[in-house]
Amino acid sequence: ALILGIETSCDETAASVVGRDADGRPLILSNVVLSQVAEHAAFGGVVPEIAARAHVEAITGVVEAALADAGTGLGDLSAVAATLGPGLVGGLIVGAMTGKALAAARGLAFVGVNHLEGHALTPRLTDGIAYPYLVLLVSGGHTQILLVRGLGHYERWGTTIDDALGEAFDKTAKLLGLPEQGGAAVEKFARGGDPKRFALPRPMKGEKRLDFSFSGLKTAVRQAAQAVMPLADQDVADLCASFQAAAADSLADRIARALARFGAEFPNLAEPVLAVAGGVAANAAIRLRLEEACRTAGVRLIAPPLKLCGDNAAMIAYAGLERFEAGRLDGMDAPVRSRWPLDETVAPLIGFGR
Ligand code: ATP
Ligand code: FE
Ligand code: MG
Repeated sequence: ALILGIETSCDETAASVVGRDADGRPLILSNVVLSQVAEHAAFGGVVPEIAARAHVEAITGVVEAALADAGTGLGDLSAVAATLGPGLVGGLIVGAMTGKALAAARGLAFVGVNHLEGHALTPRLTDGIAYPYLVLLVSGGHTQILLVRGLGHYERWGTTIDDALGEAFDKTAKLLGLPEQGGAAVEKFARGGDPKRFALPRPMKGEKRLDFSFSGLKTAVRQAAQAVMPLADQDVADLCASFQAAAADSLADRIARALARFGAEFPNLAEPVLAVAGGVAANAAIRLRLEEACRTAGVRLIAPPLKLCGDNAAMIAYAGLERFEAGRLDGMDAPVRSRWPLDETVAPLIGFGR
């Protein structure tokens, strides 16, 4: 089966064609990602209205490019998958309507995909690993530990109680006035810095519950910066390095605890796996700390290539492929959802009409 995937939940317009090779291994035939970073740069964040309009303008060309790169026509497809949430509703509607329209016009199946499911299934796309496994999702909007039991069976073991880690990186870059945006800039400046110069907190370290917290760390960076004003280049580098070390330390502590629970719950797995997903997984210092924690626990760490860590449509097409193969299709009436927790079960409504 060949699946066209469409992703428009935030500020990337993306389309991809995914199938399987003769041995049943997942095959990415194309993976087109058009980032809107430039459109939003002047506003210091993603502007929903601008994002929606940019998706409208880009989506046709991006889908055509994905089909052309893959050497496939719409007639070769089995299904179209599109992200239905969570995310910015304007963008989600563009992707969902495009996917539904293509499916309806060509008589193809339609599959609605949860964006987080796309991230969660990525290690099956890249490395073909078996269920169950653990996922650490660290992106601009999410910081979660997920147990992936099977398709559609996700258990959230921990989440951030305030900021996502990517958000903390973004805000740190901003408050230190780095010339470039985001976590990649913090990592670049941290290379020339002393991670021990500033004694920053290690949020949640040692806590039993598997949650995260990063807003206090961000505040501590601001206070440390204010104490040494005006900032020389070396101060900025040291602040970046100290922040990154604190974040990595906190993450490593949470993950070590999660791996212990994973081992206790599944003592007989042939190959226990922790997979990282999300843009922050690009950070080398964080990867190093995660590798250490995994080595200690006897767990294999899967860190997908950067193009598949950040937002992309290959992960949506792949989730669509698994759903298509399992017969889990959606109707043309499937709604988009700005909020859509991955582990959400259908809870009974209490106190409404009964
Ligand atoms: P979500 O998937 O939760 O909707 P998103 O689209 O913002 O959110 P991604 O595109 O996966 O998430 O990742 C973007 C985030 O990754 C940004 O917050 C960015 O600062 C962070 N990031 C990117 N590169 C690095 C790096 N080298 N070190 C740390 N953080 C990084
Ligand atoms: Fe994402
Ligand atoms: Mg993004």
